[in-house]
Amino acid sequence: MSVIDDVKQRLDIVQIVSEYVKLQKAGRNYKSACPFHSEKNPSFFVFPERQSWHCFGACGTGGDIFSFVMKKEGVDFAQALRLLASKAGVPLVAQATPQRQAQNKERERLFEINEAAAGYYHHILLKTSEAQAARNYVTGRGLSEETIKNFQLGFATEAWDTLKQYLKGKGCTEAELLAAGLLVERDDKNNYDRFRNRLIFPIRNTQGNVTGFGGRALDESLPKYLNSPQTPVFDKSSSLYGIDRAKTAIRQKDQAVIVEGYMDVLVAHQYGYSNVIASMGTAMTDKQLAILKGLTMNLILALDADTAGEEAVSRSGEMVDKMIPVTKLVCWPIPQPVFGFAMYKDVHNAEVKILTLPPGKDPDEVIIEDASQWQKLIDEAKPMFDFIFEKVSKQFNLSSDTGKSLVVEKLLPLLYQMEDPIRQGHYMERLAQLLKIDLTILGDALKKFKVKERKRKTYKDLRSSTSVVPTLSSSSPLEQYCLALLLQYPELKSEIAELLPEYFENTENREIYEKWQRSDNIDSLRNSLDTTLQEYLGNLINRAFRSIITDNESARREIISECAIRLKERRLKMLASQRQELLTSEAEIGEIVAQSDKLNEQGMEIAKQLYDIQSRFDHRRQPAKSDGK
Ligand SMILES: [Zn+2]
Repeated sequence: MSVIDDVKQRLDIVQIVSEYVKLQKAGRNYKSACPFHSEKNPSFFVFPERQSWHCFGACGTGGDIFSFVMKKEGVDFAQALRLLASKAGVPLVAQATPQRQAQNKERERLFEINEAAAGYYHHILLKTSEAQAARNYVTGRGLSEETIKNFQLGFATEAWDTLKQYLKGKGCTEAELLAAGLLVERDDKNNYDRFRNRLIFPIRNTQGNVTGFGGRALDESLPKYLNSPQTPVFDKSSSLYGIDRAKTAIRQKDQAVIVEGYMDVLVAHQYGYSNVIASMGTAMTDKQLAILKGLTMNLILALDADTAGEEAVSRSGEMVDKMIPVTKLVCWPIPQPVFGFAMYKDVHNAEVKILTLPPGKDPDEVIIEDASQWQKLIDEAKPMFDFIFEKVSKQFNLSSDTGKSLVVEKLLPLLYQMEDPIRQGHYMERLAQLLKIDLTILGDALKKFKVKERKRKTYKDLRSSTSVVPTLSSSSPLEQYCLALLLQYPELKSEIAELLPEYFENTENREIYEKWQRSDNIDSLRNSLDTTLQEYLGNLINRAFRSIITDNESARREIISECAIRLKERRLKMLASQRQELLTSEAEIGEIVAQSDKLNEQGMEIAKQLYDIQSRFDHRRQPAKSDGK
C-alpha cells in the first residue's frame, strides 16, 4: 500500500472537511454552502462512500481529501500530504531524507560486498584445486567456459570461514557480512560462512547488481539449493535469475520464457536463447510479474510434463486471475470501443502461454540434446486458455453427464472473463464440440452464469457500500496506461486538450498529470514531484508498450485521444450517478429545493456530453470514413 493509500484509509473525508466547513446531513451524504465560491443554497456535497467531494454549483470542481486540503489551505500536493499524513499518524519515510540516504548507502554497500563475494567465489571455481569436482560438475552439465564467466558462477569450499576472512581482509565488518546474508550467526554469537561446498550462482537485479546468491549442494547435503536470506537488497519473491542478461533480448523478442532452474537459464543463454529467466521457486509472484510487465506482455511458462497437471492448472489459474482481472475493473463502461481490444490487451492483459516439456526432461536437457527442439516447443506453446481447457477436460470423464457438468462448471468462469466476444465464441464452440453438446445449451449456461455473477456483484456492492468505505481505486489501469503513454510520448500533449486533471480519480495519477502539464521535460517533472511519487513515476516511464504503440504514430494518437475520452466518460458517469443519488436523497428527506433545478440542469449538461461521447464512438466505428482529412 502506498503512503497515500495509507493516509486515505486512516482519515475520513467527512471529518476532514468538517474542520473547515459546517456540514449538514443529506441522506447518506453531507452538504454545505460551497467553501470555494459564494452561494446561498448549498451545492457542495461530500460523499463518504466514495470519500470524495464535489461542488455542483458555480465552481463545479471536486476530488478527494488531498485536493480539498490543497484548495482550502492553498498548498501544493507535497504540503497537503505532510499535513494529512501527520493527522493520520502515517510516517513519511521519504521525507526523512537523511534516513533515506542512509538506506541507499547501506544498499550500495551491500551490493559492493556481494560483488566482492561473487568475484571471490568465481576465482575459487576457476583457479583452485579444491574446486576440481565442481568444475567437473559444470562441464558435465554442458556449460561452456564463456557461460561460466558470463554468469560468474562460483564455488564455496568446505571451509568455515574463508569468505569471511577474505572479505574482512578487504575491509568489511562482520556486521556487514551478516547483513548481506553471507555469514550465519550461531547461538554463541560466533559466525561462519553460509555457503559451504556449494556451486554458487550470483543473483542479480535488472540493473546488474548482485542482490544475493543461490548455492547448489554438490554432495548429498540438504537443502539441495540454499539461497541468501532476505536482506535489504535480496527478496526471493522479487528476484528473477538471469534478468540482467535477459532483459535486452526480452525487449527485442517481445517475449520472456520462464523456467525453473539456474541450469536451464545458463544453457538456454549459451545456445542463444537469451530471453530465458528463472522464477526462483515454483509459482510466479506479483512482484516478478511486475518486473516482466515492464519489459514485455508475452510470457511463456515452461512447465515440466510431470507437474503440469492439476497443480499447474491451479497455478496458472491464479495467474489468469492476476493478469486478467477484467470483471473487476470499473473503467470500461462501454464494451468494444474501436481500439478496445488492442487497448484492453495493453492495459490489463499479458499473453501467457504454456510450454509443456517432454516427460522427465528439464529445459537444459532438451536444449543440449537438440536446440531446435526447444524452438519448436516455444513455437508450439499453448495459450493459457487452451492449456487449461485441455487439462480440465482430461481430468473428467467427458462421456458422463456429471463429467460434462463439472467441466462446464470449471470453465464457465474463464469464458465469462473473456471480454472479446470473438475469442469467447471461439472457445464456446470448442467446448461444445469437446463435450458433444449443443452450443445453445452452453450459451444458456453462460447467460445464467452472467446473471448469477451480476446478482452476486450487485449484492456485494450493496453490502460494501453500507459496511466498508470503498476507497478510490488505488491503481486504475486505464489512468496508469494513459499517463505512461503521455510520459513516454510527450508530443501527444496536443491530442488531449479535453483531459482535465480531475478525470484522474487516483490521487497519485492526478498529481503527476497536473505536474506534467506544467513541466517541459521529465527531469523537471521529477524534481517538481514529492519524493513519495518518484519511484512510481519511474515505473510509468519504464512501462513497455506493444508494437502497435511503439511503431505506429497515428495509432498512438488514436489511442491517447480514446483514453482521454474514456476518462472523461467515466468522470461524467460518476457525476451523473452522484447527482441522481442526491436527487433521491433530497426527495427522501422531503427537501426538494430550488437546488434540484440546478442539479437537473447539470444533469442535462452531463447527459448531453455523454451523448456526444457516445456519438463520437459510433462515428469512429464507421470504417475509415474520416481518413481523407
Ligand atoms: Zn463551489
